[in-house]
Amino acid sequence: MPSSTVVLNNVRVFDGTRLTSPTSIAFARGAVVTGTPSGAETLDCGGATLLPGLFDTHVHLLAPDDLDALAAHGVTTALDMACWPHQRVDSFRGRVPDIRSAGVPAIGPGGNHARMPGMPSEAVLTDAGQAAPFVARRVAEGADYIKVVIEGDLLGQDVIDAVVREAAALGRPSVAHASSVDAYRRAVRAGADIITHVPRDGVPDEDTLAEMVRRRQVAVPTLAMMEASSVIFPAPEQAYAHSRDTVAALHAAGVPVLAGTDAFSGPGPIPDPVRQGSGLHRELELLVDAGLTEADALRSATVLAARHFGLPDRGVLMPGLRADAVLVDGDPLTDIRATRKVRRVWSAGVPVTLR
Ligand SMILES: [Zn+2]
Repeated sequence: MPSSTVVLNNVRVFDGTRLTSPTSIAFARGAVVTGTPSGAETLDCGGATLLPGLFDTHVHLLAPDDLDALAAHGVTTALDMACWPHQRVDSFRGRVPDIRSAGVPAIGPGGNHARMPGMPSEAVLTDAGQAAPFVARRVAEGADYIKVVIEGDLLGQDVIDAVVREAAALGRPSVAHASSVDAYRRAVRAGADIITHVPRDGVPDEDTLAEMVRRRQVAVPTLAMMEASSVIFPAPEQAYAHSRDTVAALHAAGVPVLAGTDAFSGPGPIPDPVRQGSGLHRELELLVDAGLTEADALRSATVLAARHFGLPDRGVLMPGLRADAVLVDGDPLTDIRATRKVRRVWSAGVPVTLR
């Protein structure tokens, strides 16, 4: 479907900080434009709220239905954090949402990740010398960033360091999986650009948080998954409280926090797993519950996600940037749950069919 030329009237726009008073905004040739483009159709939005298209900065893509569910919930950019083979990743590119992917993750031998069905053997690293060929292979396959899974001490610190270093050498951000205090400390020490999940066994100490700020590291907590998975741990409430308290501490320390869910539609151990699309709205609620303001939560899924994943063409509704947008009923700055009331979605100016 071609991108539409449209003027939205009587719409309140989230400008990255607050909602504007009712105004007009136009899309043409896939971008936000100033003035009224010729031949534009007009749409009266009745005072509804227009948000930049939402990001989910941690998903796992499996099938085309995943894309449809994300798009229907206003997610116009989805960042996959492990998907293979690379032909599957390629089949998801150029669609809605616009995706990026880590491809095959680097993991240690013998753990939960190594036992995941279909995990390719080339994912398993046992010494630092394997990092350079591993990262080069991912880059050749089109990986947008490099993922390393820190799970107990299955990977030596020298191996984690080497993966992060080799990623940087080839111009790729590194993303480290860390869901314990110890793993979090190792990820920070390695200098991973982005650290995903949060500990369920405690809250990182102040030195660790200060080092994250100093190194400009970024957090993708995936509270939706931490919440959904807590039921399979002993003392589930305690496990989730640690995750939530870590987000509060990260945010208070000044570490950028991005909205990501770890949504996955395949089989897994979690009885009620995080769903594609709806999970992002739960994540926004949980970020607010952890102490972010509603505006901070919206920034975590828009402008900050774009900034920290190197996508400067989106994340804010400004002239010249991509017309990725979600029209919702109500005011999510008063009640974050209003983001769930999706009326319309555009991806690069193309109206998305909601199903
Ligand atoms: Zn994940």
